[in-house]
Amino acid sequence: MTAVPEVFQELRCRCNATTRDSDDVVIERDYSLFGLLYLIWGGTSTPTSVSFRCPKCAHIFEVTDAESDRITYRA
Ligand SMILES: [Zn+2]
Repeated sequence: MTAVPEVFQELRCRCNATTRDSDDVVIERDYSLFGLLYLIWGGTSTPTSVSFRCPKCAHIFEVTDAESDRITYRA
């Protein structure tokens, strides 16, 4: 099995303006039904996946379900 090259960890959007580390990146979180209910009840829920969208071109340039990312970006 080949390791993912480091460069793929820092993807850019179509207009090349946004990475996941950009200040204006739009982070969208997907939750399981249980996670969503837990959020509504005021808990902190870890999303099942996290998407990164560019606010300029609206392109989702990265979707991750890595546990470390899901914990980093939980609401
Ligand atoms: Zn863009």
